[in-house]
Formats: sequence, structure tokens, C-alpha cells
Amino acid sequence: MSDFLQQVINIPKGTFKRIDLSIARLPSHTLIEMPIFVFRGREAGKSLLLTAGIHGDEINGIMMLRQMISEHILMPDKGTVIVIPLVNVYGFLQSTRELPDGRDLNRSFPGTLTGSLATRIAYILMHDVIPFVDFGVDFHTGGNRITNYPQIRCVFNDEKNIELATAFSPPFLLNSGLIEKSFRKEASNLGKSILVYEGGESLRLDDFAIKEGRNGIKRLMHHLGMKEDDCPATHETIILHKTSWVRAKASGLFDTNLKYGEKVHKDQILAYITDPYGTTQIAVKCKTDGYIVGINNMPIVNAGDALIHIGERK
Ligand SMILES: [Zn+2]
Repeated sequence: MSDFLQQVINIPKGTFKRIDLSIARLPSHTLIEMPIFVFRGREAGKSLLLTAGIHGDEINGIMMLRQMISEHILMPDKGTVIVIPLVNVYGFLQSTRELPDGRDLNRSFPGTLTGSLATRIAYILMHDVIPFVDFGVDFHTGGNRITNYPQIRCVFNDEKNIELATAFSPPFLLNSGLIEKSFRKEASNLGKSILVYEGGESLRLDDFAIKEGRNGIKRLMHHLGMKEDDCPATHETIILHKTSWVRAKASGLFDTNLKYGEKVHKDQILAYITDPYGTTQIAVKCKTDGYIVGINNMPIVNAGDALIHIGERK
């Protein structure tokens, strides 16, 4: 049994403990630690893992979890909640998605103890934390100037995934296959269901995405029998079986009045791409009925750039 698991088991019921897991040292020899907050309920029950900041510049999940820790609302009546508000400390320090060597932690699982820094961090999560966990939610945002409407991504033909996602009740629920070497896929190989939540944009705080994530965690804990308090959803969860990107047909300025989450229809003009000189204007049309699950915030685009991510109902 790992030292971390031994420490978790020794936490008295009805209390919480912060465990600082040593990761590595910076070149300056400053020790980098990953703080993990463990809340043990008074009674036995499920173990839920909440992680954020696997991509160091995706701040909404970090803010969400730090709020919930500070407000003392993650202590379950039954079971254990393990919270890691910031997994990729290195990316966070440099406001980047990746590790200092450019590697993506979420493509480095299950990891090894002797590989790159990313694979070492992945190994620690898989070896020390995952064995104790039944279910998890991993919090992300859109990357690279894309804002995502609050959404859970999971595998629709996996019954447990659907059960947990339905309990979370996000505004949008997307069918999304398991990506090779991702945390979600490798945890799934060990029989642990990890949902991925996406909301807002990297390096931007988005109050709506933070609020929906918090409410989803409360609903999930209630569903898992961990907490009596519920937080019933006031919206319908829109289930999107398929998604596709509308891409720029030409380079220029991308101009749209649409916002993330909006309903759109086939042949609707979504945006215009113009030149900087007032001479050309190209309409960007929608190919299908659907909803805007993500939108590009960058006004200068090249031909082929992803503009608007559309999700379709069945
Ligand atoms: Zn991410």
C-alpha cells in the first residue's frame, strides 16, 4: 500500500486532512508538491475524486474546487471525497497547458516513474490515488481561445458513465470517446468511471461554468448517497450525440453575434468572415440543427480554423 493510501485510511471519520504529495523539484531545488484534500464522512460509502488543473492554464475547475473547500461543503455524510484542485503545478506556474518540456499530462497516462515529468505525475495519480477511488470528475475548460458551454463529456454506451452524468445534470451532455493515454481512459481500464467536465475558456474565469460545476458536484454526491443535501437542476440537460466544427472557409476577421449555448438551425448564418479593408464579406452558414457547445474567441482567423463547435441531438 502506498504511503498516501495509508495516510488516507488513518484519517479519523468525520474529519478532513490536507496531504501534500511530493512531485519533484524545480531546477532551483524548490520542492513541488501536489496538495490533496481528503474529506472522510462519518459513515462508510463511495469514494469520489475531483481533479482540476491537469492542464495548468484551465482555471475554472481550480477556482470551483478552491471555493468548495473554503466553504466547507465537500465533507460527505457517507464515504470519502478526494479533491486535487491543481494537478499540473508546473503548467499553472507558467500559465500553460503543458509541462515545461511541452508534454500534455492528459496524454501521458498511465505513466511511469522513470519517464518524462508528465508521465511521473501521471504515475503518481494512477498508483497512489486511483486505487482508492470509485468515481471521479476531471474539470477542464476550452483551450486555445475556445469557450465551451458547461458540459459533461462521457461515453454514451457505458451505463455507469450515463448514470453519473445524468446525476450531475450539466446543461449539455456530449458523447465523447476515450482518448488514448488520457486520465479518463486509463482510469476506465481499471474499472473507474471518470467524467470530464468542460466549461469556459483557459486563462479566464467564467462564473456560469464555475456555478454549474459546483451544482453538478452537489447533485452527484447526493446521487451517490454521500450527502443528504441536493441541488435540483432548474434546466433540462440537452443530450448531444454528435458534434462537429464549423471551420473558416477563408482567412480574415471572424465576426459573430452568437453566444455559447445558443440553439442554431440548418442554413442559419452564424458569422461573417471579412477582409480588413471593407471589400469582402463571406457568410458562414450552419450545416445542421444544433447547439453551440464551443466558440472561438479569436477574431483573426486563417482558412480552416475551427470557429464554432456544434452539437446535434438525435
Ligand atoms: Zn483541459
